Amino acid sequence: MKVLSVASEVFPLIKTGGLADVAGALPLALAPLGISMRTIMPGYTSVLEKIGATKVVADFPDLLGKPARLLYAEHAGLELYILDSPDLYDRDGGPYVDLEGKDYIDNWQRFAALAKAATSIANGIDANWAPDIVHGHDWQAGLVPLYLKYSEVGPHTPSVLTIHNIAFQGQFSSQIFSALDLPAAAYAVDGVEYYGDVGYLKGGLRTAWAITTVSPTYAEEILEPQFGMGLEGLIGERIQDLVGIVNGIDDDVWNPETDRHVAATYNGVNIANRATNRAALEKRFELTPGKGPIFCVVSRLTWQKGIDLVIEAADEIVANGGQLIVLGSGDPVLEAGMRAAAARHPGNVAIVFGYDEPLSHLMQAGADAILIPSRFEPCGLTQLYGLRYGCVPIVGRTGGLSDTIIDANGAALAARVATGIQFSPIDSHGFGQALRRAFRLFEDRPVWDSIQKAAMKSDVSWQSSASQYASLYKTLLNRVAVP
Ligand code: ADP
Repeated sequence: MKVLSVASEVFPLIKTGGLADVAGALPLALAPLGISMRTIMPGYTSVLEKIGATKVVADFPDLLGKPARLLYAEHAGLELYILDSPDLYDRDGGPYVDLEGKDYIDNWQRFAALAKAATSIANGIDANWAPDIVHGHDWQAGLVPLYLKYSEVGPHTPSVLTIHNIAFQGQFSSQIFSALDLPAAAYAVDGVEYYGDVGYLKGGLRTAWAITTVSPTYAEEILEPQFGMGLEGLIGERIQDLVGIVNGIDDDVWNPETDRHVAATYNGVNIANRATNRAALEKRFELTPGKGPIFCVVSRLTWQKGIDLVIEAADEIVANGGQLIVLGSGDPVLEAGMRAAAARHPGNVAIVFGYDEPLSHLMQAGADAILIPSRFEPCGLTQLYGLRYGCVPIVGRTGGLSDTIIDANGAALAARVATGIQFSPIDSHGFGQALRRAFRLFEDRPVWDSIQKAAMKSDVSWQSSASQYASLYKTLLNRVAVP
């Protein structure tokens, strides 16, 4: 079976979050199941610099108003179509925002072009390869199911759309509709029309053959207004076609036994080397060496991630003999709050602003616990890395965090299956209680060790998730009617 994945970021080429990890790992996990997955992604400048040799597959003299070329390349075990269009993707900032953090004003065109090119591949533009299924990710691929549905040639390739975060919807003024090269009929309730605007995710969710999201709990949560962010009604109508599949992790990239970014490697049986990594962290973050727990945060600094709760808890963490280290960037107000907490507690609270993949590995390998007080979390990956590395996850009970962590309650501790701490409600009171539990458990070394070891034994691989995607694809191929 052949599947085309459509993604706006793909690890190790470009990454702003979990979507890249998934897009980079799923093709490798599907290969042993007999599924050949190729990925189409934008040819951002940094991506073109990294990939090396490419082959030209097709020329688009006018792809929604811009010249573009479709390239093919292989990189890190991935088979990639790169959409090369300097007008669209040669920018100084990140994949979606400029250097000041503002969305590019032509994002509608940049990702419509990606969807359009993906559809051309489905419709046979590459004589050597055409997919049986097209699998798009997030709003950036939201138009794929629509372009497929309205393709003049048939039969139309089945489509899957995965929601990694329903908060990002790709909503644009209705004025852009005429430039999308969709028939007028597509601007309707059962197409892209969304409260008088154009909604890429909305249109995709309306027309994809199947919808997935990245955990079973999040699949239920997005039926509620609190989590569905305006799309809960539509999700409810499509519930028969919705499934939640938890992400796995790339266990070569994230393997404490072989990780080249850590000071000392270790495994689940022998975690003594974690102390060496802890010492390396103390040095890197200029912490005063101590005996209390080091809590870490590796995250976008946003309200979603509950970073305000971490800032609020910093004083108490230090008062109880703990330390806090943070890697991330984001909301300027939260960055300032973090900076102030570090200034109040030199040697005990420290931050590295920015994005640092190697340091994120060292933190998982050397910190005692990772704090993830997210208010909503479709799946979350950092708690999975924490499990694999024995960095005990302390998480809000929501979405994928609830599906992947076993709370250290009395029964779970007695059965030695606890892998972390979950808390609810997700507010400063709930988080404070969770931290106090963490301090108590940490003081009882054998208990803490047993949590770390159970965590490291958790199955966080892609295997079972990949087979769930494989069965979904098979179901779609056997389906005759287009919705
Ligand atoms: P989201 O996709 O919502 O940001 P996830 O937990 O699903 O959250 O994925 C975040 C990914 O980005 C993880 O791989 C995490 O290690 C990584 N990450 C987040 N912030 C940083 C950072 N500042 N430096 C390095 N890696 C980071």
